[in-house]
Amino acid sequence: MRRREFVFSGLLAAAGTAGRATASGTAAAFEPVPIPEGDGIRTLFLGSGASGWNPEFATKNPHMRRQSSVLLDGRVLIDFTSCGFDKLPEGCRPEALFQTHSHADHYSPSAAVKSGVARMYVHETWAASARRQVAAAAEKLGMRAPEVIPLSFGTRVVECGLAFTAVPANHSTSRVTDGELERTCLYLVEKGAARLLYATDTAGIPGDSARMIGIDPHINDENFGERLASRFVHRPQAITALVMEATDGDSDEDFRMFVHSGVPTVARTVRMLAKHKRYLPPEGQKVYLTHFGIKYRGMPAEEVNKCLPEPLSAAYDGLEVVFR
Ligand SMILES: [Zn+2]
Repeated sequence: MRRREFVFSGLLAAAGTAGRATASGTAAAFEPVPIPEGDGIRTLFLGSGASGWNPEFATKNPHMRRQSSVLLDGRVLIDFTSCGFDKLPEGCRPEALFQTHSHADHYSPSAAVKSGVARMYVHETWAASARRQVAAAAEKLGMRAPEVIPLSFGTRVVECGLAFTAVPANHSTSRVTDGELERTCLYLVEKGAARLLYATDTAGIPGDSARMIGIDPHINDENFGERLASRFVHRPQAITALVMEATDGDSDEDFRMFVHSGVPTVARTVRMLAKHKRYLPPEGQKVYLTHFGIKYRGMPAEEVNKCLPEPLSAAYDGLEVVFR
């Protein structure tokens, strides 16, 4: 992203607004995008595993996790591949799809077309290639291609009564298309009082993202005043719900440490956010782990949970949670 746009995104995230810049290019040019009203974000885990799904897995082990994907409020997908179809509720017609990145365990042009979504959101760095890929898949299938909508970091968009803000992930595909390096996304999903951070794939939560979301413990209610508000800093605001990846299983000492997380990273992240009141869940609500790699991938959730510290809990395919 060009610096000018980045500053715009930051400013509008700080003000809780989003929209299009006008020719004047000032923050005041942005139209506010209010967070939709509502009570809770209904989240169905279609898949909770890492890459390498094989349909034979399901016949051999009913606990084997499909590639990570969620369906929100029965209408919006985050990531989707062909293994998710058999977990979609009967008669479900999702309307939109948000892509975290283009790795094949998260993104499939043909699955996107077959899902019937009308709109697919991807980070602007790979929107042109995604558009070409879904158009080619649609032509091959004789079906309609979804409209591909580019996202910039920190800009809030509303889809089906849910507000989505893409923020940077600490992950990489290393893909350069049309001269741009693909950037990968985490999503902040907001509805009413619920603020859900969906964080896969990522090694921890990057500083830029923590600031955009408002959970950087550096910036607290006491020191956030006129001085900071006038600069490129976002107002502190706690998240109420967290889904985060645990690809590396029970250890962080893994060759994927620069692009993925393990249980210790998630546990430490949650402890710090809770200590600094940047994670304020309703009583009893768990932090759900997803994108399990080899160690936990085929293990029943109740077995995985025996290895997890509170308030972490293992997601599983078919699990539905209402995050508040
Ligand atoms: Zn990935």
